Amino acid sequence: MSDLLANLNPEQLAAVTLPAENALILAGAGSGKTRVLTTRIAWLIGTGQASPAGILAVTFTNKAAKEMLTRLSAMLPMPVRGMWVGTFHGLCNRFLRAHWKVAALPQTFQILDTQDQLSAVKRLLKGLNVDEQRAPPKQVQWFINGCKEQGLRAKDCEVRDAQSRLMAEIYAAYEAQCQREGVADFAELLLRTYEVLRDHAEIRQHYRARFRHILIDEFQDTNRLQYQWLKLLAGPNEAQPSAVLAVGDDDQSIYAFRGANVGNMDDYQREFHVHHLIKLEHNYRSHANILQTANALIAHNARRLGKNLRTEAGAGEPVRVIEQPTDQQEALWLVEEIRLLLRDGYARDQIALLYRSNAQSRVIEGALFNAAIPYRVYGGMRFFERAEIKHALAYLRLLDNPHDDTAFLRVVNFPPRGIGARTLEQLQDAARLRQVPLADAISALGGRGAASLQAFVDMLGRARVECAAMSLPDLVRHALDVSGLLEHYRAERDGQDRVENLEELINAATAFVTQEGFGLDAEALREQALSEQALQNLQAVDPATGETLSPLTAFLTHAALEAGDNQAQAGQDAVQMMTVHAAKGLEFDVVFITGLEEGLFPHENAMNEADGVEEERRLMYVAITRARKRLYLSHAQSRILHGQTRYNLRSRFFDELPEDTLKWLSPKAGAGGFGGAYRPTLRAAWNAAPAAPAVPFTPAVQASAPPHGLRVGQSVFHTKFGEGVILTLEGQGTDARAQVRFHRHGPKWLALNIAKLTPVN
Ligand code: ATP
Ligand code: MG
Repeated sequence: MSDLLANLNPEQLAAVTLPAENALILAGAGSGKTRVLTTRIAWLIGTGQASPAGILAVTFTNKAAKEMLTRLSAMLPMPVRGMWVGTFHGLCNRFLRAHWKVAALPQTFQILDTQDQLSAVKRLLKGLNVDEQRAPPKQVQWFINGCKEQGLRAKDCEVRDAQSRLMAEIYAAYEAQCQREGVADFAELLLRTYEVLRDHAEIRQHYRARFRHILIDEFQDTNRLQYQWLKLLAGPNEAQPSAVLAVGDDDQSIYAFRGANVGNMDDYQREFHVHHLIKLEHNYRSHANILQTANALIAHNARRLGKNLRTEAGAGEPVRVIEQPTDQQEALWLVEEIRLLLRDGYARDQIALLYRSNAQSRVIEGALFNAAIPYRVYGGMRFFERAEIKHALAYLRLLDNPHDDTAFLRVVNFPPRGIGARTLEQLQDAARLRQVPLADAISALGGRGAASLQAFVDMLGRARVECAAMSLPDLVRHALDVSGLLEHYRAERDGQDRVENLEELINAATAFVTQEGFGLDAEALREQALSEQALQNLQAVDPATGETLSPLTAFLTHAALEAGDNQAQAGQDAVQMMTVHAAKGLEFDVVFITGLEEGLFPHENAMNEADGVEEERRLMYVAITRARKRLYLSHAQSRILHGQTRYNLRSRFFDELPEDTLKWLSPKAGAGGFGGAYRPTLRAAWNAAPAAPAVPFTPAVQASAPPHGLRVGQSVFHTKFGEGVILTLEGQGTDARAQVRFHRHGPKWLALNIAKLTPVN
C-alpha cells in the first residue's frame, strides 16, 4: 500500500486519503486527477474501507474505463473485472439489464445508436404524415435527446405554440414506437435508469447501501440528467449519504453543445455540502514550453474558475508551427515528419494526429496509407457503423428480438427479395393500425407481397431455432449464411472489402466471447444477486448460474456501446488519429494539431457567439495539453472540404500563443489576428522567402488565387452590413461564397454573385 502512495505529491496524497466525505478536485490538465481517482479506489479497497463491489466509478470513455481496470488490477491483489467502472451509458445499460422488468423493457432490448435513431425518426415522421420540411428529422432527434437529457418525457414538454405542440406530439409517438419495438436510444438509457431509481425506493436503497463510494472523472462534462442521477444515487441529504469524489477541470469543458453543464460543479459544491476542495497545481505531463503555450491560450477566456499550473520539467523543445499551401501538402508534410520521428525512435502509438472535425481525416489517412505507415482512426466511420456490418447486426438483432422494427426494415429486402416499397408501406400501415410489430401484421396483408414477407419471417424463425445451441461465433456465421448477406457481397463486383468486414465480424464475436467483456456483466450480477437475497425477485439474474444476458444480447450491446473503441483490434502499434474531443484524458509523446484555420478551428458554427469561441478555445487547450514532449501546430491556406475549395485565414489561436515558445518552421506570415490588422495568409512572398526550415518538409507550391479578386483577410464594405473582414472564401463562379465578419453584425455568409463587397483602403 505504501508503494501505491509513494509517488504522490502532498496534495495528491491528501486527496487519495480523504475521509469518506464528498470532495471536489478542481485542477488543470495533466495534474494527476485521473491518477488520484484510480489510486483512491485502490487505497479504499487495499485498506479494507471498501470492497470492489462497493465502488462505482464513472469514466468518460470505454477506453478510459478499461485503462482504469488495468491499472487497478496491477495495484490490487484481487480480481477487478466485475467492478462497476464504466461510462454513464455503460453503467446504465448494465443497470437496466438487471432491472429490465421494473424498467418496462424487454430483457433483450436493443440499443439504437445515433444513426439508427435518425432512421427511426424518419420512419416515424412518414407514418405520422408529417412533412420533413415542417419537422426536419435531425431537428426532431436533437429535440428528443435534448428533452431526455433534461429529464423530460413528452408529457412534460412545455407547449407554447403550434410548432412546440408538434414536436411534443412527435416525441410522444417516438416514445411509443421505441417501447413497442423494444429499443432504447443512448439518452434513454440514462433517463430510464434515473426514473427507476427515482420511482423505486427499494432499488434506490439497495444501490445506495451498496455503493458507498462514487467517483466521477471529467465532472465538468456531465449534463443535468447525469447530475440528477448522481444525486439520487448518492443521496447527499439522506442519513447515510455515499461519499462522492468528483474530479474535473472547468477549462476542459468541451461538451456544452451536447448539454454538458459546467454549472454542475457549483451546484455540486453546494448541494453535496462539499467539505474538501482540492486543487492540484503541478503538471506532470508536459514540458514547460507546451504548458506555457496552453496556459497563455486559455488565459484569453474570460469565464474561468482560475487555476495555476506549473511544471518542474525543463523547457523542452519549442512548439513547432507550420503553414502549408493546401491540405494535401499539410498531409504530405505530416507523413515526412512522422517518418523522421519514427527514425528517431518514437513509438508509433505515441504519435497522435488531432483534428477538429472527422471530415479532415480522409486526406491524412490517404497520405499515411500511401507511405505505408500503420495508423488507427478513433471515431469517424467506425467498424460497427459500416453498412454491411449494420446489415449483419440487424439480422442478429432480429434473431434476438423479432419486434425490432428498425432492424426489420433495414434488411427485409436486403439482399433483395422482391419485396416492394408499396408492400412495406401497407405493412407499416397495418402494423400502425393494430399497434403491433411489423412481423405480427403480415397476416393482415394478402397477395404475393405477404408471401414474401412471410418467407422472410419464417427464415428468421428457423434460424432462431437452429442457433439456439450455437456458440456466438457460429451463430454469427450462420446468420450471415442464411440471410444471404455473404453470398450477396461475394457476388458483387466490389464486394471483397465487405466480405472481409463480415468475416471480421465473426472474429470480433470470437474475441468477444474469449476475452473479457461478456463475462463481466454476468459475473458482477452473480455476485450481486447472491449476496443480496432481498433483491432477487427484482432482477433478471438466475442466482444459480448468474446468467443474465445471452451472449448474443451482450454482443449486440457491445456493438452499440463500444463501437468507437473496439474497432481495428489490429494495428495497436499504429499512429493514433482522432478528433480533439476524442483525445480528452489521453496523453502522447508527440501531438500534431492540424487544420488550425478560422472556420475550422475555431469552428464556424461556434464563431457567432462569445460562448462558442470560449468553448473552442477550451478545446484547443485540451488539444495542446495532450502532448508530453513535442507539439506541432499546422494550418493550410486552402483546403477542400465537402467538395469545396476553401481559402482560410489561419486560426486566431496562433495570435494568442506566446512567441517565445514557438518556432516557425515556415516563414511566419503577416500578423493576422482579431483586433489587429488583418493580413492575408495567401502570400505571394512564399517562394521568394525560402527561409531554411529546421526540419525538412515538402516544398510548398503557391495555391492559386481565387478569381473574384477578393482575398481572405481583406477589409470590405457592404451597403447593409457595413465594414467587415473576409474570413473564408469558397466555391467558384456563381457558387462563390464568402464568410465575412462584420464589425457590427458578426460573421455572415454571402453569395458573391449577389452581394456587393467593395474592398476598403
Ligand atoms: P487530464 O486533465 O488531461 O485528464 P489528469 O489531471 O487526469 O489530466 P493524469 O492523466 O492523471 O492527469 O496524469 C498525467 C500524467 O502525469 C500521467 O502520466 C501520470 O501518470 C503522471 N503523474 C501524475 N501524478 C504524478 C506524480 N505525482 N508523479 C509522477 N507522475 C505523475
Ligand atoms: Mg484525466
